[in-house]
Amino acid sequence: MALLPDKYYSDETGEPFATCIECECVLESTNEYLIEKAYKRYPGFEVKDTVFEYALCKACYVKLENEMSEESRQALAQFFEQNINVEYLLSDGDFCCISGVDLSTVAEYQVAVLVNKHNGVYTELMFAGEAIDRVVEVLSEKTLDEIDGFVGRNLGLPPEFEGTPRPRFIIV
Ligand SMILES: [Zn+2]
Repeated sequence: MALLPDKYYSDETGEPFATCIECECVLESTNEYLIEKAYKRYPGFEVKDTVFEYALCKACYVKLENEMSEESRQALAQFFEQNINVEYLLSDGDFCCISGVDLSTVAEYQVAVLVNKHNGVYTELMFAGEAIDRVVEVLSEKTLDEIDGFVGRNLGLPPEFEGTPRPRFIIV
């Protein structure tokens, strides 16, 4: 698929993501899906580690979004409306779309890419770890539990991430 730059390929396989992490459908046969990746850097080192990465088909992320409490959905919509900086969002550089911080200078960040093959476009959202923490603060306990459930089902995260749920599918 020529649409996506190879930085959005799976770091594990070096190939485009093949299947949805939740239902395992073949992404090649779907029009819209979401890719999320989280990175961690260590001070003084150039390399970055991929903390997690996955692709989620549209049916699955819509389902997960619908399971979210009304309270959390509204709080999130309001947070993004008030805090997303369109200039940084549309920028070609790697900047947090909330704070505008240069992501090459932060220890942790996440990238969400919404792929629409039908339109031949993709939308990229990048968040510094600090912005993700602010997003988490607006979510209800129930939503955080659901995110933990998703993480537990699908992502074998290292112990330091236990108990610190991070929004993923919900940021679309
Ligand atoms: Zn799916």
